[in-house]
Amino acid sequence: MKVYVAEEAGFCFGVRRALDILEELHEEKHEIQTYGELIHNRTVVEKLTTQGIHSIDSLSQIEPGKKLVIRTHGIPVDTEESLKREPVDLVDATCPLVKKLHRIAAKVRENDKDVQFIIVGDPSHPEIIAAASYAPGVVIIASEEEAMGLPYNKEMAVMAQTTFDSECFQSIVSILKEKSGNLKVYETICNATIVRQEAVKRLAPFVDFMVVIGGNNSSNTKKLFNIALERNKNTFHLESYDDLNSNRSNLLSRVQHFQSVGITAGASTPPEDIQKIKTFFYNINSNRVKEINHGRSKRNAEH
Ligand code: SF4
Repeated sequence: MKVYVAEEAGFCFGVRRALDILEELHEEKHEIQTYGELIHNRTVVEKLTTQGIHSIDSLSQIEPGKKLVIRTHGIPVDTEESLKREPVDLVDATCPLVKKLHRIAAKVRENDKDVQFIIVGDPSHPEIIAAASYAPGVVIIASEEEAMGLPYNKEMAVMAQTTFDSECFQSIVSILKEKSGNLKVYETICNATIVRQEAVKRLAPFVDFMVVIGGNNSSNTKKLFNIALERNKNTFHLESYDDLNSNRSNLLSRVQHFQSVGITAGASTPPEDIQKIKTFFYNINSNRVKEINHGRSKRNAEH
């Protein structure tokens, strides 16, 4: 099968940076906990667990003497302040581009209390929960429909989750411009997100089917999946190479007539997973898939 990997896929700068921080601490023989899962990828989190690095989500779970690393998505300001009061050695692995959201949110709220501040993103995602904590009263929306439902406000400001769909954000901005005399737009979608989304837009229409690899709870993976699906109805999500193995026969039966696959991966997907899945598809072709299925049906019939 012909295999095409999107020009930009997999680990972004923020994820690599967080893993480098952790690796350095691990090599220096520090004992480590992370506050929240470091990144949204099960393969990586399980690997960290085997190294004795566990994630916690409350102050009561802090183990004295260990380094406590803050996850890439950041934490709410009150949690950070509470952690700073604890006798714990904090290491901040929040992506600097996520930190920028915190600074903008705090600045907007501090400078003008009357401005209607809007964050475009998933209200249940840790990044947005953390950013919103810097701007009490902020309104969080996730769609054009929600933007249309907002009342007119003379002064508005808007920023987006770093992994939000850039086209959808621009469309929301156009709607908000009609709802405000003065709309200040902060461009906070990170470049890693934009280039991954653009690459999948180019690749998806070009191949027979698409595979999007990434964590079930990864926001940017979900966006890549939706963007691919809009352009290629034969789009599948795989959490990891292990996920491929457990869904192998189902997936093979659905792609057996196809000749080409496009692969993309969320910003938390490790290169090993991409490589293994790429090799898996590279090593099959339509005839061989038919043989495997044929053999399996024959064996089933014999039993
Ligand atoms: S996707 Fe962007 S904002 Fe999120 S961790 Fe990666 S570089 Fe940082």
